[in-house]
Amino acid sequence: MIMSSNVSTLLVQAIGALFIGAVFAHFQRAFHHGYLRHWTHSWFAAAAMLAMAAIRNIIRETGEPAGVVYFALGVVTAVAALLRIVWLLFGAWELTADRTVPRARARQLVGAAIVLGAASALLPLLFGQGTVDDGSGAPALVRTMIRAGLGGFAFAAAAVLVLRARPWHAGLGHRLVGISFFAYGAEQVHYVGIALWTWATGHTIGYQPLLNILDFLLQFFMALGMVIWLLEDERRSAVDAATQIEHLAYHDALTGLPNRQLFLDRLDVAIASAHRSGGQLGVFFLDLDRFKLINDSLGHSVGDKLLQVVSRRMRTLLRDDDTVTRLGGDEFTILVPTVEHVDDATAVARRVREALKLPIVIDGRELFVSASIGISLYPNDGDDADTLLRNADTAMYRAKNQGRDTIQLYAPAMNARALEQLTLENRLRRALPNGELELFYQPIVAMQTRRVAAMETVLRWRHPELGLLSPDSFIALAETTGLIVPIGEWVLRTACRQLRQWQEAGLPELRAAVNLSVRQLQQPDFVPLVSEILAETGITSETLELELTESMAMQSDGDTLGKLRELKRLGVRISIDDFGTGYSSLSALRLFPADSLKIDRSFVGDIVTDPDDAAIAEAVIALARSLKLQVIAEGVETREQLEFLRDHQCDYWQGYLFCQPRPASACSAMLSREVMVRQSLGLIRG
Ligand code: C2E
Ligand code: CA
Ligand code: CA
Repeated sequence: MIMSSNVSTLLVQAIGALFIGAVFAHFQRAFHHGYLRHWTHSWFAAAAMLAMAAIRNIIRETGEPAGVVYFALGVVTAVAALLRIVWLLFGAWELTADRTVPRARARQLVGAAIVLGAASALLPLLFGQGTVDDGSGAPALVRTMIRAGLGGFAFAAAAVLVLRARPWHAGLGHRLVGISFFAYGAEQVHYVGIALWTWATGHTIGYQPLLNILDFLLQFFMALGMVIWLLEDERRSAVDAATQIEHLAYHDALTGLPNRQLFLDRLDVAIASAHRSGGQLGVFFLDLDRFKLINDSLGHSVGDKLLQVVSRRMRTLLRDDDTVTRLGGDEFTILVPTVEHVDDATAVARRVREALKLPIVIDGRELFVSASIGISLYPNDGDDADTLLRNADTAMYRAKNQGRDTIQLYAPAMNARALEQLTLENRLRRALPNGELELFYQPIVAMQTRRVAAMETVLRWRHPELGLLSPDSFIALAETTGLIVPIGEWVLRTACRQLRQWQEAGLPELRAAVNLSVRQLQQPDFVPLVSEILAETGITSETLELELTESMAMQSDGDTLGKLRELKRLGVRISIDDFGTGYSSLSALRLFPADSLKIDRSFVGDIVTDPDDAAIAEAVIALARSLKLQVIAEGVETREQLEFLRDHQCDYWQGYLFCQPRPASACSAMLSREVMVRQSLGLIRG
């Protein structure tokens, strides 16, 4: 009678385990959770263990417990018992740690479980000194105690892990699973007690059928809990996905800032509220200066990181009810919903500008950005969202044209300003044919010999109404309109012609340095043009030096690089102008066919007073040395600066200290003195 109750218990449990295993397997196929796979294995192992144990009991009942089959079944039962525990714990661990059990480790532990299980099946041989294990003696007791004890411990541990995997209030499902795991563990421990009691008293317990029901119920709750849990998780991830989709629709993916749509929505609300209260609001349009350059020279990932830092800075700087938006690229807008006075708006813009100016470190590299900001105010500059945004944009463009890093308010005068630019452009178109352009020349002096080595040409426009204009006020316009191409050709030809005169007047080695726009280089016939001008004016290519600003140089593509190399092969010298203001990468610099670097005058200006600028100048010189380039310092205005540069082995210098750019006639006088000095030096030597 004892045996058959045991058999029925085991069979009930086996069916329950099989059922749960099937449920887990089904869900695993649908949800692909790693823990479900482990638990499927665990419950199938449990089913196998229980079924084998039941068959062993039947064999014992029929009185043949000594055969090989009986023993083999014992081994399988023991192994399955351990595997069940190992897999249960794998699943629970994966749930808590949110990581998969490493494959190699999993294999080791499963292997260990198999070996240990098989070894434990040998227990009866040890205990019984050869006697047969009939399931009622000490070996059976030890076996039950180990198996149920381990099971109890494993389920309790799994319960703790499951309950800790989610917050208590996260849902009913995981609580149900956790609690039923715990109860099941307790039931297993209880079986240890029963086994002890049976062994000590020789009586069986009378409430086994109740335990069978409890067992079945617990298995049922585990399965039910798991179903609820998965449904809850599914619902939660659907809700999360919906929130995320909504966020994506209204936010910029890179920076997480609101996008144009959300900005316009909020602007509409703010306009309505300002209208009711009779207040003002401000719309800022911000564009980073030279961002394209950073993107092109340092790569898009650096550009992206920079945009993220800039966004964070603005977000932390502004108040919570201000909206910062990335419209796209390096364009941002800010909505300040309440502005008392115009000065408040400019103060906000100034704060943003200053915050952006602080160095930004990305991948160990320090970057400096500045921004041009345009501001429009409601109701002065527009009474709907579109107009305000458009006018802030216009104001930003004006800021850009005024030399970047500036703030501009939109004002009705803006239209007058646009008109002015147009007029200037029309005039510039006629400047060349009208003979209004002039070249000024500024000497470049060799540090060692103190002799004039080259004359750099700078362009001037004698505007009929505005007087003598410097290039800053029209070169950018000439570049955007393409006028720089014919103008540049004229500059090159005039400079070479002038150089020829000076060379013939006694300075045969004097060079001409000519500023070049990248637009000129992009012309397909630029190289032949240079050869033609050299032939026409009769100067040698070695005495022509072309200056390309660092930012232009770093933007050059394969085509322009090819042309520069061709020019260099012809013997023309190439100089990188305004060095230190762009973002040269060492690798790009190494590939660039330059002969010399010109340290930008902004560093030279503070070389004696600002240790940072001194360090930059020193670094540029060292860099040039390592790349076998010559160094020219421009903008030298004081003796101290010159001495510093001489001490640091700068090759050439240029600046007001020697002389300002002057017309050719004025330079001719200076150069004839130069000829005389050289002759007298020659006389002394001779
Ligand atoms: P750049 O090539 O760097 O030219 C040097 C500028 O620095 C000149 O200004 C010159 O007057 C100024 N400078 C020279 N020495 C000193 C000094 O000691 N102190 C100070 N504070 N400034 C000094 P400029 O003539 O106004 O030229 C401005 C820029 O316009 C030039 O910078 C160059 O990039 C561009 N540019 C001039 N001529 C041409 C041209 O023919 N073609 C092109 N594409 N660009 C030109
Ligand atoms: Ca130059
Ligand atoms: Ca320069």
